[in-house]
Amino acid sequence: MLKKARMYDENTFLLAQSRHALTASERRFRDVAEATTDWIWETDTDLHFTWLSDRFPGITGHSISAWLGRPVTAFMEADNQPLAEWIKLPGQTGHRRLLHCRYLSAMGHQRYCHIAIKPVVTPEGIVGYRGTATDVTLEVEAQARVEYLSRHDELTGLPNRVRMREFLEGKLQALPTPEHPLAMMSLDLDKFKPVNDLFGHGAGDAVLHEVSTRLRSCVRDYDLVARQGGDEFILIISDIQHRSDIELLCNRIIDELARPFVINGNEIFIGASIGIAMAPQDAVDAGELLRFSDIALYKAKNAGRNRWMFYTPEMAEQVVQRREMENSLRDALKKQQFRLVYQPRYGHNSSRIIAVEALIRWEHPELGLLMPEQFISLAEETGLIIPLSDWVLKTACHDAQQSLPGLSVSVNISAVEFQSWGLIDRVRDALQASQLDPARLEIEITENATLWNPENSLELMLALKKLGVKLLMDDFGTGYSSLSYLRNFPFDGIKLDKSFISDMPESDSANTIVENIIGLGKAFSLSITAEGVETEGQLQKLMMMECDETQGYLIGKPLSLTALREQMAALDSAAQERTGQQSQG
Ligand code: C2E
Ligand code: MG
Ligand code: MG
Repeated sequence: MLKKARMYDENTFLLAQSRHALTASERRFRDVAEATTDWIWETDTDLHFTWLSDRFPGITGHSISAWLGRPVTAFMEADNQPLAEWIKLPGQTGHRRLLHCRYLSAMGHQRYCHIAIKPVVTPEGIVGYRGTATDVTLEVEAQARVEYLSRHDELTGLPNRVRMREFLEGKLQALPTPEHPLAMMSLDLDKFKPVNDLFGHGAGDAVLHEVSTRLRSCVRDYDLVARQGGDEFILIISDIQHRSDIELLCNRIIDELARPFVINGNEIFIGASIGIAMAPQDAVDAGELLRFSDIALYKAKNAGRNRWMFYTPEMAEQVVQRREMENSLRDALKKQQFRLVYQPRYGHNSSRIIAVEALIRWEHPELGLLMPEQFISLAEETGLIIPLSDWVLKTACHDAQQSLPGLSVSVNISAVEFQSWGLIDRVRDALQASQLDPARLEIEITENATLWNPENSLELMLALKKLGVKLLMDDFGTGYSSLSYLRNFPFDGIKLDKSFISDMPESDSANTIVENIIGLGKAFSLSITAEGVETEGQLQKLMMMECDETQGYLIGKPLSLTALREQMAALDSAAQERTGQQSQG
């Protein structure tokens, strides 16, 4: 009895202990199941859920009761193979992992998980399956985003140059034919750069966004519109039926982009130039096509913007010619083939010549006399403008000091020079070398120079003013800015562009515009010079409007220093005669 009782006690104790162990193990399992971000599931041999861990609703949004008894294959599917086949793969009793299963959350969103499974094996064989599901939606989305970003432009959402190149190579592999060619179009926005400066980068971004929308609306779904960077875009149009289709498309794009962009209540006007190369006619290699469409774009821009041009082999020759021109420009600096001519500026108050503008000429050994329009932009692009302009500054200051007593001299400075602080030293050096009174030197800059980098420009202008020189805004009215904007810069005067003067005095609207600009300029204490005055009628009208100065063929064409000095004497006496007549009358 005693022995039996002791055995009973031991058994009860062991039983209690194993119950205890079981509860502990269950609790441990539950703790683990809840602590992990995975959800755990079990199915029977038909793959119907028989158990789902408490994590299931939190991660998937579905309730457990809704899914118990339903097949796992209805809940999710694998990327590469039927899920049921993989789970039930014969001869597998260990742990296995499967990547990338997809399911829909209760909200209907696409989600991704990795699953791992192990069959539940008893002596009777496999009685079901048990597994975990790890949610990897964030990782998959991040990777997709990286993948997307590497091929798309973040700002506009358009394909970027990487994707464009892939697309182009793909299209070229399909071997376009002369009957159904492919067009590679390089597009560059005109007048976009000042938008950022005038209206802020937010507005610039908004314009680019709208440009991409308008471009997409011009082409078919399967054509490509890509952003190359900055304000450059590429369009790839394949399977073209007629060349005229491309011409129509270009016209449409130009029209679309010429329409104003309304951003934050401002109407912003830009435009576009397009260069086109065709495959297979021009090239069948992606790199060549791109280069050719760029050359055509460059030509279109130079031809006056807001236009499009097809590539021709002569264009490439012209690019070569340009390279030769660059070399001869370098040479010309060494060989001193440049000279200055001076155009008088007539002061209405004093009725005499009060200043001259220095204008550069190039006596090319083979091409003859070249005008600034034929080489200044090349000099600007190649950086040769700095030594060239240095020579102009020094020569003009020297000539004014030595041969033009009492006259101011104005020198044109390119916008690119206005980007660097070296300009201050260069002007100071020219003044020192010539001993010219700084008050007699005037620097002419176009308004665009101030737009590129307004803060920098302002500091530079203040530093120039400190030297004692005057600042004139050249070609006012051809650029983008208003007088009230320009008031923020320390200009001493403006030169009204000749395009305004040419319609005077016949056109009423031209008269009104000029009169208003003169009025505003006076309100801002700016001296006003009218450029391109060619007729007596224009001069009379301008004098009535109290314009301060006139420059133009009527007063005098640009002349060599000697010729100018001769003419000045004659002009002075004629002017004296005129005032004499007026006082008599
Ligand atoms: P700009 O500074 O506006 O110079 C005035 C231009 O208008 C000159 O042309 C002048 O010859 C022309 N002009 C003057 N009066 C009349 C007129 O009554 N009717 C017409 N139709 N035209 C007139 P130019 O000398 O060919 O110079 C063209 C432009 O080249 C200049 O425009 C200036 O922007 C640039 N430039 C000239 N010299 C230099 C220079 O030394 N450095 C730089 N950076 N640019 C220069
Ligand atoms: Mg000028
Ligand atoms: Mg001008």
